[in-house]
Amino acid sequence: MSENLYDLFRSRFPADRGRTFIENPQGRCWTYRMLDEESARYARMLSELGVRAGDRILVQVDKSPEALFLYLACLRAGLIYLPLNPAYQSSEIAYFLADAEPSVLVCRPQALDAMHSLGANHRVSHIYTLGSGGEGSLVEQSRDLEPEFDSVSREGDDVAALLYTSGTTGRAKGAMLSHRNLASNALSLHRVWDWRETDVLLHALPLFHVHGLFVACNCVLLNGTSMIVLPKFDPQTVLDFLPRATVFMGVPTYYTRLLAQPDFGAAACRNMRLFISGSAPLLEQTFGEFLERTGHHVLERYGMSETSMNTSNPVDGPRKPGTVGFALPGVDVRIVDGDDRPVRPGDVGEIQLKGPNVSKGYWGMPERVAEDFTPDGFFRSGDLGTIDEDGYVSIVGRSKDLVITGGYNVYPKEVEQYIDELDGIQEAAVIGIPDADFGEMVAAAIVRKDGVDDVTAEDIIDRLKQTIASYKVPKRVFFVDELPRNAMGKVQKNLLRERLANAPSGEASTPATRNKGAGG
Ligand code: AMP
Repeated sequence: MSENLYDLFRSRFPADRGRTFIENPQGRCWTYRMLDEESARYARMLSELGVRAGDRILVQVDKSPEALFLYLACLRAGLIYLPLNPAYQSSEIAYFLADAEPSVLVCRPQALDAMHSLGANHRVSHIYTLGSGGEGSLVEQSRDLEPEFDSVSREGDDVAALLYTSGTTGRAKGAMLSHRNLASNALSLHRVWDWRETDVLLHALPLFHVHGLFVACNCVLLNGTSMIVLPKFDPQTVLDFLPRATVFMGVPTYYTRLLAQPDFGAAACRNMRLFISGSAPLLEQTFGEFLERTGHHVLERYGMSETSMNTSNPVDGPRKPGTVGFALPGVDVRIVDGDDRPVRPGDVGEIQLKGPNVSKGYWGMPERVAEDFTPDGFFRSGDLGTIDEDGYVSIVGRSKDLVITGGYNVYPKEVEQYIDELDGIQEAAVIGIPDADFGEMVAAAIVRKDGVDDVTAEDIIDRLKQTIASYKVPKRVFFVDELPRNAMGKVQKNLLRERLANAPSGEASTPATRNKGAGG
């Protein structure tokens, strides 16, 4: 029997297809019937192009109902959906084109020329546009097609989506998520979060990441209820719509920003059932302030692109601040030492994961499976954690080199490579330093070439902004004479973090550094 994820969703749609699936802030509604018909048209159009099940489709568009229908159309047509952050620039996109070799691209109308030049070098056969208001060739060219489509049969193991992440290394890799990976996780979350017929999700997250796409949308689709979809997170807009919602999902920065709104409190949350946080650590202080202001215990959960969700605090039962809760049903979570042996209860070790949610590996990298998985099939998360006597998992650090800023992952290695390429630069080390709003802020310690002292922090920041997504660009730049290294020649990022964390903006903290100003 086919395990196409769309068929699972469809089996749970409300009998009355006239019920609302999406409402936008202007009050415009899209029903389940519209979802089914519109995604059928796109699926039909894509299939008629001659692309085959298993072909990749790279989608870099703004958030819109149509973007979500396109994801569903790809499931229906058996295509592998590869969503990208619209902030990525040409040099970043070229990498994904070379790695995933998609045959179809869907981009924002304003990016069409750039995509044509990029696509020409990568055997892309079709390019469509989709704008934030649903305009563009995707919708125009499918408008007259039959609004029906029989889903292409898929086995549970067939890949449904590629989510690019750097995992434990610097190079972006496409985590292959199968129809069964996504279905099992959505079914678990739907059950443990106790989704109800009266639920309304307020959706403020982006649609190109596991959190906003799979966790949020797949749960709503399984529940057959509606969501209010905001184009982006804006604290005032969230405040305006919260009274009509029962569930909200966000990264910790959303919660600190809501708390910064003077009129945010219990009244705005009067209908709310569940506030869910993830993608980065929620500080106990934020948990406490939120409880005090609203009476709600934020429910923190833990997941990643490669696995979707692994653990969650309970809906019924104590939500322990600073923890990410219990293993989800069917997910094995273990904490191990450097030899993959389980540590004693309460000790710190690497978190390893096994279950139907875990991706089978990275696109085009079968050789990595031996490195990323243990011989007994556990995925090495690169996160460090503990499990307490009650079974609550806590994340205490990372063994992978990763900065999480406002919920977005930045891989230092990637940014370092871009800085190293700039004129006058010898080498760079990128780190995260604590930041009250973003959790962590991207910062760079940079060694200039001998005799070069006219390259300023502002120059570097400006040049990077022209090449990479702006959330990856260091907010602070420190010039140093040399990077601290250990006996093996490895840069000691922990030392850099200690030195630079408290350095006032514009200065580095050691006598060995000569600093020439910093960015914001
Ligand atoms: P991504 O693949 O972008 O979803 O990032 C996954 C990484 O985000 C995980 O491996 C963790 O390092 C981090 N992460 C996700 N959820 C949490 C959480 N609740 N607390 C701390 N870190 C988290």
